[in-house]
Amino acid sequence: MCAEHFLRMQWRRINHLRTQEKLIVSGDRVVCACSGGKDSTTLMHVLARICDRKDLSLQVLSIDEGIRGYRPFELKQARKHAKILGLEHTILSFKEEFGQTLDQIVRTNKDNPPCSYCGVLRRYLLNKGAKALGATKLAVGHNADDEAQSVLMNALRGDVIHMARLGPKHEVPDFAGFVPRIKLFRNIPEREVAAMSILMGLNISFHQDCPYAGTAFRQIVREHLNELETQSTGVKFKLLKFLDELSPILRSSLKQGRPELCNKCGEPTSGEKCKLCEILADIAR
Ligand code: SF4
Repeated sequence: MCAEHFLRMQWRRINHLRTQEKLIVSGDRVVCACSGGKDSTTLMHVLARICDRKDLSLQVLSIDEGIRGYRPFELKQARKHAKILGLEHTILSFKEEFGQTLDQIVRTNKDNPPCSYCGVLRRYLLNKGAKALGATKLAVGHNADDEAQSVLMNALRGDVIHMARLGPKHEVPDFAGFVPRIKLFRNIPEREVAAMSILMGLNISFHQDCPYAGTAFRQIVREHLNELETQSTGVKFKLLKFLDELSPILRSSLKQGRPELCNKCGEPTSGEKCKLCEILADIAR
């Protein structure tokens, strides 16, 4: 495929998913969650084009987890691209919100892998930040590889509740405190997002992975899935198709009206206490 047809194909994928799933509709105030990595920085540019209309608005939100030698480079990139596009950019940090950087949390809590703290705390801060910015949608840079890995991870963990939350749009009905998350790149493989950013001339630097990534279960699943994909082309897309057929069934059978709320903070949870409160209690010990 030539560059022009490649980019046209990706825009078709994005626009098809956007309209089919109503990811962005008239009146939306979109917040782009941008880590400064290649996917979310490319997403920022894609959203800037989509939201260049009077009835839509766009802002950028980044989270500084406090990962030495890694996050500062990425945040610099996020800042640079938000400035190029003339977008308002907010940065929230673990240090200010939780009193500790991820590096500090990891040093004193060796029982759990760093990503188990990072993922929960980051998701909480993104939602909190998006809500404070008045967002109606929080756009994340997850691509087809990320989604296929999540399907497999949830299957391997036997986690039906998290499996039901996957898909291009995640919302918590009957709970206004959760800003719906949308994934415009959900049908685009990781390598094609990277190719898109190059062909769009975005000049995004590709930095090294997070130093903690090697300890993550996701990394193991990612390597196995890449290996499977080379032996049997299309397995990642088959996992996405599997999810698309399964999730309506899961969602309707799990639907029980208003979600359970954490007895400490009042956020939605599947147990008595939400994961965030468990982690905050854990790191305060
Ligand atoms: Fe956080 Fe893990 Fe991602 Fe690093 S790899 S940014 S620790 S979730």
